[in-house]
Amino acid sequence: MIDRSASDARPDAASGTGRPAPASAGIFDPGLLDRCISCGFCLPVCPTYRLTGQETSSPRGRITLMRALESGRLADGDPTLAEEASFCLGCRACETVCPAGVRYGELLEQWRDHQWRGRRRPLLARLLMAVVSRPALLGLQRLVRRYATGKAGRRAVPGGADRPASLMLGCVERGLYPEVSRAVLELRPELAVPGGQGCCGALHAHNGDSAAGRELARKLGERLDGTIVTTAGGCAAHLAHHLGRDRVAELSEYLERTGYRPAGEVRVNGRRARVALQDSCHLRNALGVTRPPRELIAAVADYVELPNAGDCCGAAGTYSLLRPADSRAVLRPKLEAIEAADVDYVVALNPGCLRQLRQGLRRARSRAKAIHLAELLVMAARAANRSTPR
Ligand code: SF4
Ligand code: SF4
Repeated sequence: MIDRSASDARPDAASGTGRPAPASAGIFDPGLLDRCISCGFCLPVCPTYRLTGQETSSPRGRITLMRALESGRLADGDPTLAEEASFCLGCRACETVCPAGVRYGELLEQWRDHQWRGRRRPLLARLLMAVVSRPALLGLQRLVRRYATGKAGRRAVPGGADRPASLMLGCVERGLYPEVSRAVLELRPELAVPGGQGCCGALHAHNGDSAAGRELARKLGERLDGTIVTTAGGCAAHLAHHLGRDRVAELSEYLERTGYRPAGEVRVNGRRARVALQDSCHLRNALGVTRPPRELIAAVADYVELPNAGDCCGAAGTYSLLRPADSRAVLRPKLEAIEAADVDYVVALNPGCLRQLRQGLRRARSRAKAIHLAELLVMAARAANRSTPR
């Protein structure tokens, strides 16, 4: 366990380095903050509480800190506030077990809006937000779009489903894993891929600028026709929150909704592949999507349920970059479970999780490989095409 005893909350406003916040500082929506009944049901599911065993690193402890900040009992610059706003993964596992319906994800956004305002925001987060907001990147995006579609200027004619649908090229994915979008288009060639897509704003909302996050989501909603199909669970949850649940479908949902029937199977060493899933936290905890990806995997391989499939992998947006040691500590039990399950592949539903798993599995010298769901389905479909007599 990490020793975080030095981070215990202090009710003394003078303990901070900044000025005390006034009573009822207006940082949080009081309706959200008051909802917590301090029952503690959320403690066992919280990855940071599991790491430390410290109340301040639990959802209930953090809500106590937020209340102290709001009422002025803790000073604005208190180091415990700064540490815990950063240490939280934002995985929202706490929301799934809360009997009082606390919307912790919204509270965390409001907390970071205050805690990380201006130059208090971690430098790396500022840099990343600036990069994904720069219009100059649209040129790079055009190249990636060309690679992802396999054609210059792919037609923008949606169809094939009940209503138009557009593939969102996420900021992280378009930079690191454009092959994922290409795989999606192999599965669903009817998807439109409009140019000029910006960032969806999830990165901003999770890093202390929820106003920009909201505005970017709105703009993206105007640029993309019909259902917005995304291969990133975090983006899906952010867009669904701002544009409405009906506007957004994560890939597995979209495939199910449009009647996609997986073809073929993935084989390894002459046998059906053993494949596990890493849930995307926001897809699972915020949108409640768990069944479609499992069923799709089971259609093309032997599905293996990891005991901790629903636990955060430690990627958590910028978390793995801002807090690499904690991120690896959160990932460790996941890697152990993957080794124990002796699987060939672990499927991710989010580019951040994909990166985290690939790095972790490589460091652990595991034989398991991390791939995106779209890539697994394309492997199976290609195998089916190869075995079909022409
Ligand atoms: S489960 Fe909900 S109500 Fe109970 S302590 Fe956690 S956040 Fe508060
Ligand atoms: S969002 Fe995740 S890490 Fe943060 S308090 Fe909730 S369960 Fe814990």
